Amino acid sequence: MKYKEKYPILEINLKKIYENTNYIVDLCGNLGINIAGVVKGVNAPLEVGEIMLEGGCRYIASSRLEQLINLQKKGLKSENMLIRMPMIGEIEEIVKYVDISLNSELETINKIEEECKNQNKKHKIILMMDLGDLREGILDEEEFINTALYIENNFQYVKLYGIGTNLSCYGSIKPTYGNLNKLCNAAIKIENKIDRELDIISGGATTTLPLVLDNNIPKKINNLRIGEGILVGRDLADYWGYDIKQIHKDTIVLKAEVIELKNKPSYPIGEMFIDAFGNKPVYEDRGIRKRAILAIGKQDFVFPDSLIPLEEGIEIVGSSSDHLIIDIENAAKKIEIGDIVNFGMFYPNVLFLTASDSVNKEYVF
Ligand SMILES: *Cc1c(COP(=O)(O)O)cnc(C)c1O
Repeated sequence: MKYKEKYPILEINLKKIYENTNYIVDLCGNLGINIAGVVKGVNAPLEVGEIMLEGGCRYIASSRLEQLINLQKKGLKSENMLIRMPMIGEIEEIVKYVDISLNSELETINKIEEECKNQNKKHKIILMMDLGDLREGILDEEEFINTALYIENNFQYVKLYGIGTNLSCYGSIKPTYGNLNKLCNAAIKIENKIDRELDIISGGATTTLPLVLDNNIPKKINNLRIGEGILVGRDLADYWGYDIKQIHKDTIVLKAEVIELKNKPSYPIGEMFIDAFGNKPVYEDRGIRKRAILAIGKQDFVFPDSLIPLEEGIEIVGSSSDHLIIDIENAAKKIEIGDIVNFGMFYPNVLFLTASDSVNKEYVF
């Protein structure tokens, strides 16, 4: 067996990611909204960056500077966007490698201007407004507008490219017509003062898509930064009750190998204390059950409970760092040692599995 065929394998279907991208780009395009494809959720492989661009994304975005630099060094041709506020130590490379960055601190922007001067390079900034989610951005409207005007009037190399906001991250605040309209009102006030239109009014991430579907998003919003909705597509359907039929939810499949197959009691035997992670789980006694151990564990996917067995009748029992136990008592398919069991998953699993060196990534089209 070649090393490449070794399990566990994370199979990433580029055709499905392409179709998801294409669908969202068209859906939003109809309302004059372009898309920044966010690649951080899959740890930014070149293959996914390329397919997002083919699918029509206008920008490629990540919160991790090193991912953007890596993509650019590998030859990805697109304007890129850094969607986490810069660390001071990153500024030199940001000016060198990044076209657009999200910002909320004038002190940092001042340093970007200085570095731009050193490198004789321009840099575009999206100033972030906090609409109540309480992660990044300026909360007070007057301070926000004044900061935007300061950038416009005092910097030579840094350009006020636009404004944006981020929701449903820390404070779990829902994007609505009302809160996004505050961003748009600020945009209008800034545009009136600077006597030009801002290039970007960025209205959030995947969780803003329901407003697009309902055609209830303020008209001035012209950009969204989408990761999960393209890469996994499960959050809107499972958490928001917006099941977009056209979005593939099986873009990424985990394939793990059976290394033990035995009938065992479902209730541990002996004096119960703590598990491998210091927790005291509750065990249900279901009698003797047929179960399998797979060669993969929490170190790879962190959250076993959000893995989704793709074969009928398989249940997840539990996991330690390197083992995943499944109940196969009612499995529709006969399972043997060396067999491969497939799982779908949610975004957090994708985030960790794509980062695991023990998991081979295979791209299919
Ligand atoms: C991660 C992130 C996004 C993308 O979020 P999804 O839910 O994956 O669409 C957009 N904007 C910012 C600032 C982010 O950090």
